Amino acid sequence: MKKSKKKTKYYFSFLSGNRIKIAVITVIILLLAGLTTVVRQFKPTIETPRSEMKTLPPDIKNEMERQPVPATSSATFRVPILMYHYVEYVQDKRDRLRQLLDINPNIFEQQIQTLQQAGYTFMTAKELGEVIDGKMKLPNNPVLITFDDGHWDLDTVILPILKKYHVKATAYIIPGFLGGSDFMTPNQLRDVISSGLVDIGAHTVHHIALKGKLFPIVQFEVNQSKAILEQTYHLKVVSFAYPNGSFDQQAVNIVRDAGFTTAVSTIPGIAQSNLNRFFLYRIRPGYRTGQLLLNYLQQNTFAQY
Ligand SMILES: [Zn+2]
Repeated sequence: MKKSKKKTKYYFSFLSGNRIKIAVITVIILLLAGLTTVVRQFKPTIETPRSEMKTLPPDIKNEMERQPVPATSSATFRVPILMYHYVEYVQDKRDRLRQLLDINPNIFEQQIQTLQQAGYTFMTAKELGEVIDGKMKLPNNPVLITFDDGHWDLDTVILPILKKYHVKATAYIIPGFLGGSDFMTPNQLRDVISSGLVDIGAHTVHHIALKGKLFPIVQFEVNQSKAILEQTYHLKVVSFAYPNGSFDQQAVNIVRDAGFTTAVSTIPGIAQSNLNRFFLYRIRPGYRTGQLLLNYLQQNTFAQY
């Protein structure tokens, strides 16, 4: 008995004094690092124009280069997709982030007037999916207006303007945030849906940037955001937007397999096709109105706003 105790002591004799301390500290550091990695997977991301993904991730770029170029140029459509977040008069002037993502309501209204008077046809993301699938003809001068996140102003400020001009739009909703401060209530969302002008898309359940995340987390966020919106509001949800525009090949595959027909990114561009239907390019109109806005939509290269 005494002998075996001595033997055990011998085996662990390297764990003495400082070495024990170092071993314990190392284990704690590894545990904390592991915990931080897991917590980060679930952390909602905050959108800023600077934090958005602006170029194709390398895995997608390689995949695009492997694909054959569409046989006819008609397979690529020139469709500007305008990206908005807030449309309101920002009350708190210190809220820099809000101001960066905001367009004043009167400017937004002027932009709608400009586009309507210039003969643009407002379509939804769902309709663009049908065009890509050959089920619908592309209208003349197509344009999409999209709103991310589902803030309260979608119902109180944006919807009255959409109704006034009878303009269609697409709104990407975060079902986990509905009813939270700064977001629409479920009843406000019902109001938006009942207008019949807005294609309701999904934007994950908790606004999680999807690039590089674990497969089950991405699958949950994508599939559940669709399922919750469809079941709660009796809709067919086929349009998706990546929070922060953050995606990779894994996210694209999951979005496609979930039954979405399109997904929008934050990569600037105007050429939409079957090749990028799950990372359609978008542009920020900024404060441009009138001829300035029309010239902006006519150009072929898109600088970041
Ligand atoms: Zn967002």
